[in-house]
Amino acid sequence: MTTTATQPRSSAHPLAGRVAVVTGASSGIGEATARLLAAQGAHVALLARRAERLTDHVAQIEAAGGRALAVPADVADPASLTAAADRVRERLGRVDLVVNNAGLALPDLLGRGAESNWQRMIEVNVTGALAVVTAFTPDLIAAAADRGHADLITISSAAAQTVLPGFAGYAATKAAVSHFSRNLRAELSPHHVRVTTIEPGTIDTELRDHLGDPATSAAVQEAVASLGELPSGTDVAEIIAFAASRPRHVNLSQLSVLPTREA
Ligand code: NDP
Repeated sequence: MTTTATQPRSSAHPLAGRVAVVTGASSGIGEATARLLAAQGAHVALLARRAERLTDHVAQIEAAGGRALAVPADVADPASLTAAADRVRERLGRVDLVVNNAGLALPDLLGRGAESNWQRMIEVNVTGALAVVTAFTPDLIAAAADRGHADLITISSAAAQTVLPGFAGYAATKAAVSHFSRNLRAELSPHHVRVTTIEPGTIDTELRDHLGDPATSAAVQEAVASLGELPSGTDVAEIIAFAASRPRHVNLSQLSVLPTREA
Protein backbone atom coordinates (compact mmCIF):
# COMPACT_ATOMS: atom_id res chain seq x y z
CA MET A 1 0.00 0.00 0.00
CA THR A 2 1.26 3.45 -0.79
CA THR A 3 0.66 6.13 1.83
CA THR A 4 0.07 9.52 0.25
CA ALA A 5 0.83 12.82 1.90
CA THR A 6 -2.86 13.33 2.57
CA GLN A 7 -3.57 9.99 4.24
CA PRO A 8 -3.46 10.11 8.04
CA ARG A 9 -0.90 7.89 9.75
CA SER A 10 -1.35 6.60 13.28
CA SER A 11 0.90 8.20 15.88
CA ALA A 12 2.18 4.72 16.80
CA HIS A 13 3.16 4.02 13.19
CA PRO A 14 4.14 7.38 11.71
CA LEU A 15 6.24 5.67 9.03
CA ALA A 16 3.54 3.26 7.80
CA GLY A 17 3.68 2.98 4.02
CA ARG A 18 7.34 3.98 3.81
CA VAL A 19 10.05 1.81 2.24
CA ALA A 20 13.41 2.42 3.89
CA VAL A 21 16.98 1.36 3.24
CA VAL A 22 19.48 1.55 6.09
CA THR A 23 23.14 0.98 5.24
CA GLY A 24 25.45 -0.22 7.97
CA ALA A 25 22.49 -1.94 9.61
CA SER A 26 24.39 -4.89 11.09
CA SER A 27 25.36 -2.95 14.25
CA GLY A 28 25.29 0.35 16.13
CA ILE A 29 23.35 3.31 14.81
CA GLY A 30 22.21 1.50 11.66
CA GLU A 31 20.91 -1.55 13.52
CA ALA A 32 19.00 0.62 16.00
CA THR A 33 17.61 2.73 13.17
CA ALA A 34 16.40 -0.28 11.21
CA ARG A 35 14.63 -1.64 14.30
CA LEU A 36 12.98 1.70 15.11
CA LEU A 37 11.88 2.52 11.56
CA ALA A 38 10.31 -0.95 11.33
CA ALA A 39 8.61 -0.51 14.72
CA GLN A 40 7.17 2.75 13.40
CA GLY A 41 5.68 0.99 10.39
CA ALA A 42 8.28 1.27 7.61
CA HIS A 43 9.31 -1.73 5.54
CA VAL A 44 13.06 -1.77 5.99
CA ALA A 45 15.97 -3.18 3.99
CA LEU A 46 19.05 -3.75 6.15
CA LEU A 47 22.33 -3.47 4.20
CA ALA A 48 25.82 -4.38 5.49
CA ARG A 49 28.45 -7.04 4.87
CA ARG A 50 27.84 -9.31 7.89
CA ALA A 51 24.98 -11.39 6.54
CA GLU A 52 24.39 -13.51 9.62
CA ARG A 53 23.83 -10.47 11.82
CA LEU A 54 21.41 -8.98 9.30
CA THR A 55 19.43 -12.22 9.21
CA ASP A 56 19.20 -12.24 13.02
CA HIS A 57 18.03 -8.61 13.14
CA VAL A 58 15.41 -9.26 10.46
CA ALA A 59 14.10 -12.29 12.34
CA GLN A 60 13.71 -10.19 15.49
CA ILE A 61 12.04 -7.30 13.63
CA GLU A 62 9.59 -9.70 11.99
CA ALA A 63 8.91 -11.51 15.27
CA ALA A 64 7.91 -8.11 16.65
CA GLY A 65 5.44 -7.65 13.78
CA GLY A 66 7.59 -5.57 11.42
CA ARG A 67 8.61 -6.15 7.82
CA ALA A 68 12.31 -6.27 6.99
CA LEU A 69 14.75 -7.67 4.47
CA ALA A 70 18.39 -8.65 4.94
CA VAL A 71 20.50 -7.48 2.02
CA PRO A 72 24.17 -8.38 2.41
CA ALA A 73 26.16 -5.82 0.44
CA ASP A 74 29.44 -3.94 0.41
CA VAL A 75 28.90 -0.24 -0.30
CA ALA A 76 32.47 -0.04 -1.63
CA ASP A 77 31.72 -2.65 -4.32
CA PRO A 78 29.57 -1.12 -7.09
CA ALA A 79 28.33 -4.49 -8.40
CA SER A 80 27.30 -5.60 -4.92
CA LEU A 81 25.44 -2.35 -4.35
CA THR A 82 23.63 -2.46 -7.69
CA ALA A 83 22.49 -6.02 -6.99
CA ALA A 84 21.36 -4.94 -3.52
CA ALA A 85 19.32 -2.02 -4.87
CA ASP A 86 17.65 -4.31 -7.43
CA ARG A 87 16.80 -6.81 -4.69
CA VAL A 88 15.29 -4.14 -2.44
CA ARG A 89 13.06 -2.86 -5.26
CA GLU A 90 11.99 -6.36 -6.20
CA ARG A 91 11.14 -7.41 -2.64
CA LEU A 92 9.96 -4.21 -0.95
CA GLY A 93 9.20 -1.82 -3.80
CA ARG A 94 10.37 1.70 -4.49
CA VAL A 95 12.48 3.25 -1.76
CA ASP A 96 11.38 6.60 -0.25
CA LEU A 97 13.70 6.79 2.78
CA VAL A 98 17.45 6.19 2.68
CA VAL A 99 19.64 6.27 5.78
CA ASN A 100 23.18 6.51 4.38
CA ASN A 101 25.01 5.36 7.49
CA ALA A 102 27.66 2.71 6.70
CA GLY A 103 31.13 3.86 7.65
CA LEU A 104 34.28 3.13 9.54
CA ALA A 105 36.89 5.03 11.53
CA LEU A 106 40.58 4.17 11.27
CA PRO A 107 43.48 6.06 12.84
CA ASP A 108 46.06 8.03 10.84
CA LEU A 109 49.13 5.98 11.94
CA LEU A 110 51.45 8.51 10.32
CA GLY A 111 54.47 6.67 8.97
CA ARG A 112 52.84 3.32 9.85
CA GLY A 113 50.36 2.65 7.11
CA ALA A 114 48.36 5.86 7.04
CA GLU A 115 47.81 5.61 3.30
CA SER A 116 46.02 2.28 3.40
CA ASN A 117 43.72 3.42 6.22
CA TRP A 118 42.96 6.67 4.39
CA GLN A 119 42.31 4.80 1.16
CA ARG A 120 39.92 2.40 2.88
CA MET A 121 37.96 5.21 4.52
CA ILE A 122 37.72 7.10 1.22
CA GLU A 123 36.40 3.92 -0.43
CA VAL A 124 33.74 3.27 2.21
CA ASN A 125 32.89 6.63 3.82
CA VAL A 126 33.03 8.78 0.69
CA THR A 127 32.86 6.70 -2.51
CA GLY A 128 30.55 4.17 -0.84
CA ALA A 129 28.21 6.87 0.47
CA LEU A 130 28.12 8.51 -2.98
CA ALA A 131 27.38 5.15 -4.55
CA VAL A 132 24.41 4.69 -2.21
CA VAL A 133 23.10 8.09 -3.30
CA THR A 134 23.52 7.12 -6.96
CA ALA A 135 21.79 3.78 -6.43
CA PHE A 136 18.69 5.18 -4.73
CA THR A 137 18.20 8.81 -5.86
CA PRO A 138 16.00 7.84 -8.84
CA ASP A 139 13.71 6.01 -6.39
CA LEU A 140 13.62 8.99 -4.04
CA ILE A 141 12.75 11.46 -6.80
CA ALA A 142 10.05 9.20 -8.24
CA ALA A 143 8.61 8.47 -4.79
CA ALA A 144 8.53 12.17 -3.91
CA ALA A 145 6.70 12.92 -7.15
CA ASP A 146 4.06 10.32 -6.24
CA ARG A 147 3.64 10.67 -2.48
CA GLY A 148 4.72 14.26 -1.82
CA HIS A 149 8.15 13.82 -0.28
CA ALA A 150 11.03 11.42 0.32
CA ASP A 151 14.07 11.44 2.60
CA LEU A 152 17.82 11.04 2.26
CA ILE A 153 19.41 11.04 5.71
CA THR A 154 23.20 10.94 5.89
CA ILE A 155 25.19 10.04 8.98
CA SER A 156 28.33 12.13 8.93
CA SER A 157 30.24 12.99 12.13
CA ALA A 158 31.01 15.85 14.48
CA ALA A 159 34.56 15.21 13.22
CA ALA A 160 33.47 16.98 10.01
CA GLN A 161 33.46 20.27 11.94
CA THR A 162 36.27 19.87 14.48
CA VAL A 163 39.92 18.90 14.78
CA LEU A 164 40.30 15.28 15.86
CA PRO A 165 43.99 14.56 16.53
CA GLY A 166 45.04 11.14 15.22
CA PHE A 167 42.02 10.94 12.91
CA ALA A 168 42.69 13.55 10.23
CA GLY A 169 41.80 11.09 7.47
CA TYR A 170 38.51 10.11 9.12
CA ALA A 171 37.63 13.76 9.78
CA ALA A 172 38.39 14.62 6.15
CA THR A 173 36.12 11.86 4.84
CA LYS A 174 33.32 13.06 7.10
CA ALA A 175 33.85 16.70 6.05
CA ALA A 176 33.41 15.49 2.48
CA VAL A 177 30.25 13.61 3.45
CA SER A 178 28.74 16.65 5.20
CA HIS A 179 29.57 18.91 2.29
CA PHE A 180 28.14 16.67 -0.39
CA SER A 181 25.03 16.19 1.74
CA ARG A 182 24.59 19.98 2.00
CA ASN A 183 25.04 20.32 -1.75
CA LEU A 184 22.68 17.46 -2.51
CA ARG A 185 20.02 19.22 -0.47
CA ALA A 186 20.15 22.13 -2.91
CA GLU A 187 19.89 19.73 -5.85
CA LEU A 188 17.17 17.48 -4.48
CA SER A 189 14.93 19.89 -2.57
CA PRO A 190 13.22 21.12 -5.79
CA HIS A 191 12.13 17.48 -6.23
CA HIS A 192 10.70 17.42 -2.66
CA VAL A 193 13.43 15.08 -1.50
CA ARG A 194 14.41 16.23 1.99
CA VAL A 195 18.11 15.88 2.71
CA THR A 196 19.22 15.66 6.33
CA THR A 197 22.81 15.58 7.60
CA ILE A 198 23.33 14.19 11.08
CA GLU A 199 26.71 14.77 12.74
CA PRO A 200 27.03 12.59 15.85
CA GLY A 201 29.71 13.02 18.46
CA THR A 202 30.86 10.02 20.48
CA ILE A 203 28.13 7.37 20.39
CA ASP A 204 28.18 4.06 22.24
CA THR A 205 28.66 1.59 19.36
CA GLU A 206 31.31 -0.88 18.23
CA LEU A 207 32.88 1.69 15.86
CA ARG A 208 35.93 2.06 18.10
CA ASP A 209 36.36 -1.73 18.42
CA HIS A 210 37.62 -1.79 14.83
CA LEU A 211 40.41 0.79 15.01
CA GLY A 212 42.99 -1.89 14.29
CA ASP A 213 45.80 -0.41 16.42
CA PRO A 214 46.02 -1.37 20.11
CA ALA A 215 47.84 1.80 21.23
CA THR A 216 45.31 4.06 19.51
CA SER A 217 42.44 1.97 20.89
CA ALA A 218 43.72 2.33 24.46
CA ALA A 219 44.12 6.11 24.12
CA VAL A 220 40.68 6.48 22.54
CA GLN A 221 38.98 4.32 25.17
CA GLU A 222 40.52 6.48 27.91
CA ALA A 223 39.33 9.68 26.24
CA VAL A 224 35.86 8.22 25.74
CA ALA A 225 35.64 7.10 29.37
CA SER A 226 36.12 10.72 30.47
CA LEU A 227 32.84 11.63 28.72
CA GLY A 228 30.72 9.54 31.06
CA GLU A 229 27.44 8.18 29.72
CA LEU A 230 27.26 8.21 25.91
CA PRO A 231 24.24 8.41 23.62
CA SER A 232 23.31 4.97 22.28
CA GLY A 233 22.54 3.95 18.72
CA THR A 234 18.88 4.12 19.70
CA ASP A 235 19.26 7.74 20.84
CA VAL A 236 20.47 8.61 17.33
CA ALA A 237 17.84 6.39 15.71
CA GLU A 238 15.11 8.37 17.49
CA ILE A 239 16.41 11.56 15.87
CA ILE A 240 16.49 9.88 12.45
CA ALA A 241 12.92 8.62 12.84
CA PHE A 242 11.82 12.07 14.05
CA ALA A 243 13.34 13.74 10.98
CA ALA A 244 11.70 11.24 8.63
CA SER A 245 8.27 11.67 10.22
CA ARG A 246 8.04 15.49 9.99
CA PRO A 247 5.30 16.96 7.80
CA ARG A 248 6.36 17.18 4.16
CA HIS A 249 7.05 20.95 4.34
CA VAL A 250 9.57 20.55 7.21
CA ASN A 251 13.18 19.56 6.45
CA LEU A 252 15.57 19.14 9.38
CA SER A 253 18.62 19.93 7.30
CA GLN A 254 21.50 19.50 9.75
CA LEU A 255 21.67 18.12 13.28
CA SER A 256 24.41 17.52 15.83
CA VAL A 257 23.98 14.96 18.59
CA LEU A 258 26.67 14.85 21.27
CA PRO A 259 27.19 13.35 24.70
CA THR A 260 26.24 16.02 27.21
CA ARG A 261 29.83 16.24 28.45
CA GLU A 262 31.46 16.37 24.98
CA ALA A 263 32.77 19.86 24.15
P1 NDP B 1 29.35 0.42 13.87
O1 NDP B 1 30.75 -0.05 13.68
O2 NDP B 1 28.50 -0.25 14.87
O3 NDP B 1 28.57 0.40 12.48
C1 NDP B 1 29.18 0.58 11.24
C2 NDP B 1 28.30 -0.10 10.20
O4 NDP B 1 28.83 0.15 8.91
C3 NDP B 1 28.25 -1.60 10.40
O5 NDP B 1 26.93 -2.04 10.23
C4 NDP B 1 29.14 -2.14 9.29
O6 NDP B 1 28.65 -3.41 8.88
C5 NDP B 1 28.88 -1.09 8.21
N1 NDP B 1 29.89 -1.08 7.19
C6 NDP B 1 31.22 -0.82 7.32
N2 NDP B 1 31.85 -0.96 6.15
C7 NDP B 1 30.90 -1.32 5.24
C8 NDP B 1 30.92 -1.62 3.86
N3 NDP B 1 32.05 -1.59 3.15
N4 NDP B 1 29.75 -1.93 3.24
C9 NDP B 1 28.60 -1.99 3.96
N5 NDP B 1 28.52 -1.72 5.26
C10 NDP B 1 29.66 -1.39 5.90
O7 NDP B 1 29.48 1.97 14.19
P2 NDP B 1 28.40 3.15 14.24
O8 NDP B 1 27.04 2.64 14.31
O9 NDP B 1 28.88 4.08 15.27
O10 NDP B 1 28.67 3.85 12.82
C11 NDP B 1 27.63 4.23 11.95
C12 NDP B 1 28.00 5.56 11.32
O11 NDP B 1 28.05 6.55 12.33
C13 NDP B 1 29.37 5.57 10.64
O12 NDP B 1 29.28 6.25 9.40
C14 NDP B 1 30.22 6.36 11.61
O13 NDP B 1 31.30 7.01 10.96
C15 NDP B 1 29.21 7.33 12.16
N6 NDP B 1 29.59 7.94 13.42
C16 NDP B 1 29.75 7.17 14.56
C17 NDP B 1 30.16 7.77 15.74
C18 NDP B 1 30.41 6.99 16.99
O14 NDP B 1 30.98 7.55 17.95
N7 NDP B 1 30.00 5.74 17.09
C19 NDP B 1 30.41 9.21 15.81
C20 NDP B 1 30.18 9.91 14.57
C21 NDP B 1 29.78 9.28 13.44
P3 NDP B 1 29.52 -4.63 8.31
O15 NDP B 1 30.83 -4.62 9.03
O16 NDP B 1 28.65 -5.80 8.63
O17 NDP B 1 29.62 -4.37 6.85
